[in-house]
Amino acid sequence: MCRHTAWLGTSQTLASLLHDPPHGLLRQAWEPRRMLHGRINADGFGAGWYAPEIRTEPARYRRAVPIWADASFASLAGVISSGCVLAAVRNATVGMPVEETATAPYTDGRHLLSHNGRVDLTVPLGLLRGSRGAPVPDSRCDSALLAAVVWQRLAAGAHLADAVAEVVVAAGGRDGAARLNLLVTDGSQIVATTWGETLSYRVSGGENTGVGIGADMEVGTEIGAGVEVASEPSDDGDGWIDLDDHQLLVADTRNVIVSNLT
Ligand code: GLN
Repeated sequence: MCRHTAWLGTSQTLASLLHDPPHGLLRQAWEPRRMLHGRINADGFGAGWYAPEIRTEPARYRRAVPIWADASFASLAGVISSGCVLAAVRNATVGMPVEETATAPYTDGRHLLSHNGRVDLTVPLGLLRGSRGAPVPDSRCDSALLAAVVWQRLAAGAHLADAVAEVVVAAGGRDGAARLNLLVTDGSQIVATTWGETLSYRVSGGENTGVGIGADMEVGTEIGAGVEVASEPSDDGDGWIDLDDHQLLVADTRNVIVSNLT
C-alpha cells in the first residue's frame, strides 16, 4: 500500500508539508506507522501542486525511486509553495509496473488523484464506459486505470465527490478484496475515501464543531488556515481525526464533511 497526503489552505512549501513533519510523507516512506498492508514505500513518489496565478493545470514531480533517494527534490521542495498540494509515496502492488507513469498523482490536466490500495484490473476496465473517447490510462497500473474511470465520470459532468464515491462503491462491489482509498483534488477541494486503509485529517487554525448531523453521521468542521488529509498523522500533535472505514471526506476552505459511503 501507499501513503498519501493533501493540503488545502494557506500557501506552504512542499518541504514543510512532506519533509519537515516528524512523521510526514518522507518518514512514512520508510517507517509508516499505520499502514495495514506492506511495510515500506520505496517504489516511487510524486507530488502535484497548483499555481493558479500561472496556469490552471497542476504541476507534477514524479519519480520511480524512493523519496529519500532524491536530494534534488528535497532541495526544490524547500522553495516551492502552494495552497493546494497532493503527494504520495508508493509500495507497488505485486504485478504492477514500477515506472514514473504508474506513480501518483495522476492528472487529467485539472485534477490530481492518488490511490492507496489495489483492485483487480478487470474492474476499472469494466467500469470504463465504451472504448471510443475513453481516457487513455498513463500506465497499466490498477491505480492509473481507476483514475481513468474517475476522469471519464468527471468529463461527463459529474461533481467531484459524486464521481469519486460512485467509482469506489462500484469498484468495491465488483471486487470484494479491493482496497480503495482515493485522494483527489481540483485545487479548491479535497475528496477522499476510506475503503480498506487508514485516513486522518486535521484542520489548522479552525475549530472542530463536532456536530453529528443525522443518520449518516456527518461531521462539520470549520477551517481556518487549512486542512491536511493524510493516510496517517504527520505528527503526534492534537487535532487529528481518524476516519472509519467506508467513508467519504469532502473538504474545502470552509469546512470538512465526512459521511458514510454505503
Ligand atoms: N495499486 C497501486 C500501485 O501498485 C497502489 C499501491 C499501494 O497503495 N501500495 O501502485
